[in-house]
This record gives sequence, structure tokens and C-alpha cells, in this order.
Amino acid sequence: MYMIKAVLIDIDNTLLDFCKSANKTIKMLFDKKELTCTDEVFSVFHEINDGLWQRIERKELTKPEMYKLRWKLVLEALHIDYDSDLMEQEFRSTLSGVAEPVDNAYEMLEYLSRKYKLYAASNSSYEHQIKRLTSSDMLKYFEEIFVSEKVGALKPAKEFFDVCFSEIGDVNVDEVVMIGDSLTADILGGNEYGIKTIWFNPNYLEIPEQPKPDFTINSLLEVKNIL
Ligand SMILES: [Mg+2]
Repeated sequence: MYMIKAVLIDIDNTLLDFCKSANKTIKMLFDKKELTCTDEVFSVFHEINDGLWQRIERKELTKPEMYKLRWKLVLEALHIDYDSDLMEQEFRSTLSGVAEPVDNAYEMLEYLSRKYKLYAASNSSYEHQIKRLTSSDMLKYFEEIFVSEKVGALKPAKEFFDVCFSEIGDVNVDEVVMIGDSLTADILGGNEYGIKTIWFNPNYLEIPEQPKPDFTINSLLEVKNIL
């Protein structure tokens, strides 16, 4: 892909391991509150959280609604009697300081930043992502950080990519590539906008027909074979 000038890179579960970071955060909170933290807590949290994020991407739910619901559902499912609003608030504020990298994320950023202009593209809160990119020392690799909260739209919406393109400046759709782990946000969004997509698929899931990624990688280092 010799004509590529800019690379859009998702943050959560592409650069920073949301699962590892969330699990570390949950363990810290549960220990502090003297609640028992078992593996069930992690699996219940991720199942509920993933479901809620998919509803946000389908525009069935807003982020404030999700923040209201997330720990309420998790605590209910675990039969834990605790203030869910307080848990959500503490979860988000603690998570901001916990940024566990995905394997080979630094190597990929080093490599790509020598060849292309890099932009982060994330559905999240701006301050939260800046804090995490700073604490993981990844911020320096990016020209700009596009986060839905500031952009005013969420991936996969066209409006999200419109803002990215207008900020990046002089590039065409065939000169930009999107790398991300989410089929419903990154790959669908990229496909519909007409940019090439690289699906980060570390769990070796089946490659779907719709939305179909242009390339699939199981390790971040494999981008070297494509870009
Ligand atoms: Mg992601």
C-alpha cells in the first residue's frame, strides 16, 4: 500500500488492552472495598460492557445511559449490594490511570511512525484517553487524537471520519487506512467511508463477509507485512 499517507488507529483493545486495564482496575476497587474479586466478576463485567458498547454503536443507547447502567447490571448479576453510581464513578476515575499495552503496540507504533502520519481514533471520553496515552507514553507517536466525545460523533458514523479527514487535511480516502479490533466500529466505519481497513483479530475469530476487512492481523507486528 505505497500510496498510504495517514494511519488511523483505534485505542481500546488495539493499543491499550482494555480487558487487562479494566480487570486491574476492578481488582483494585474490589480490594479497596473488601469485596471478593473472583474471575466471575471479570467475565460478567466484560459480557455486560461489550453488550452495552454494541448498543451504543447501533445508536440504541447513549454513553451517559451506559454509564448509568453498566455497574448497575454488573452488581445485580453478581448479587452484590453496592451503590452502582459510585462504583461507575470510581471505576472510570481509576481506569484513567491504568493503561496496560497490547502486546507489540510500541513496536508497531515505532515502525509506523517512521513511515506515516499517525492519528488515534477512539470512541471514548477525550480526557480519559489523553490520560491513558500519556501514562503509557504513546501520545508522542500521534499527530492528533480523534476521540468521539470531542469529534461529536462515534465510529462507525460518517461524521466521525469527516472530522478526521478535515483535520488531517490534504489526503484522499485511498491514502488513509484504519486499524482496529472492532468490526462494528472500526471495520464497518472504514468500509462505509471507503478507506482500507486492517482488522486486529488477536483471538482468531472467523473473518466475516460483512463488514469485510481488507486485511486481518492476529498480532500487531503483522502490520509490517501490509504497511
Ligand atoms: Mg477497540
